[in-house]
Amino acid sequence: MEAKKTPVVGLPRAMLYYRYRTLWHAFFDELGIKTVVSGPTDREILDRGTSLAIDEACLSLKIFLGHAASLVGKCDYILIPRVSNFGRHRNMCTRFEALPDLAKNVFRESGQRFLTYDIDVLQKKNEAAAFQALGQSLGFPARAVRKAYKLAKKAEQAKYKALVREQEQLYKTDGLKILIAAHSYVADDPYIGWTVTSYLKKAGVTPIRADIVDRAGAVGCSPQISPTCKWEMSREIIGSIAMHCDKVDGIILLSAFPCGPDSMVNELISRRVKRVPVLNLVLDSQTGTAGVETRLESFVDIIRFKEGLL
Ligand code: SF4
Repeated sequence: MEAKKTPVVGLPRAMLYYRYRTLWHAFFDELGIKTVVSGPTDREILDRGTSLAIDEACLSLKIFLGHAASLVGKCDYILIPRVSNFGRHRNMCTRFEALPDLAKNVFRESGQRFLTYDIDVLQKKNEAAAFQALGQSLGFPARAVRKAYKLAKKAEQAKYKALVREQEQLYKTDGLKILIAAHSYVADDPYIGWTVTSYLKKAGVTPIRADIVDRAGAVGCSPQISPTCKWEMSREIIGSIAMHCDKVDGIILLSAFPCGPDSMVNELISRRVKRVPVLNLVLDSQTGTAGVETRLESFVDIIRFKEGLL
């Protein structure tokens, strides 16, 4: 009898990958499923994604489609979850609701298969149930899937706690500190947001990430800046700003053009946060490193001047 082939699952290195990578890798590893991750974003991935997306798509979505395209034909399934909400007033941007359908449509002629799971707590579909359905749809017994999710969740929590601890230490360091307020997939992407982190480091400034934070605590603090914001990831970021703006010398609001949630939320932050200088930096597919670096250079100079360091 021929042994049953274990599928290979492709993970696009974009959007939710940056939030869930530990959980995904640990879950699939535990089930003995091989994963393949698309390479770091580069010009080719961005151009490919741009050609597949409608003009109105945000930069993050274009990058995502480029990553998905680079995995087509290289794996049995590409994982694209649908994440709608985590409860009342805890929504995700609508792009995350549409992503599986959008990708299936964009790649409909490629023959590529997709794997998805559905998180919609308002419809009683939570993460544990979503992973249970996902594992069982791949033919694994219910018990094995439960165990895999439990272990993966534990690994994710431990890793994230360590990351948060690391960030918290940075607030206590000497010298200039700048808080980068961005979605993880913007700040961490090596082709777009990472330019900001590396520039600040080169300039002798400590970059700190607003998105790496005790999430429940940040959501609890978010009403200090906006009591009505309903996007979960934006609430985490504004809550993190409320918690930390007294401990930093400046804030960079970094977003991907054209981002609906960020255009509202970042405007609000600029109006509400008065204690420290705020730079609003919007990245698009044409943004060159030079333009970004010039704006960062003058922002850092303004802060240094304000602190009497120039
Ligand atoms: S939050 Fe903004 S950047 Fe993220 S997917 Fe939605 S529109 Fe794109």
